[in-house]
Amino acid sequence: MTDCIFCKIIEGTIPSQKVYENDKVLVIKDINPAAPVHVLIMPKEHIESMNDAKAMGTAADIFAAARETATILGVAENGYRIINNCGKNAGQTVMHLHFHLISGIRMGEKII
Ligand code: 5GP
Ligand code: ZN
Repeated sequence: MTDCIFCKIIEGTIPSQKVYENDKVLVIKDINPAAPVHVLIMPKEHIESMNDAKAMGTAADIFAAARETATILGVAENGYRIINNCGKNAGQTVMHLHFHLISGIRMGEKII
């Protein structure tokens, strides 16, 4: 996808702060963090949103990477939250499937 900002980050043509990577998934720091720890977990394949994530393998890859990332960042024990915004009512702004992993604060409400 030539006009997708996350595809450009995955290709390396737009810089990012990489936290974790494997052959299927990239994890980067969010450019505008909502919490002390705020990273974005994305498949390297261009999938627009959860509505297009038909293969269960994608979910398994994402959640394995999330768990690995939480360990790398040292937040696994105290806990973290994973959020996916799908579509306009949820406020999805980048149309490349991604999951927010948020931590480093005590979270109360279930929405941010
Ligand atoms: P959404 O609202 O689509 O669920 O989340 C998109 C997220 O991507 C936002 O939290 C925003 O700060 C982040 N973001 C947008 N552009 C960039 C970028 O160029 N680099 C990084 N690292 N994060 C970005
Ligand atoms: Zn993309």
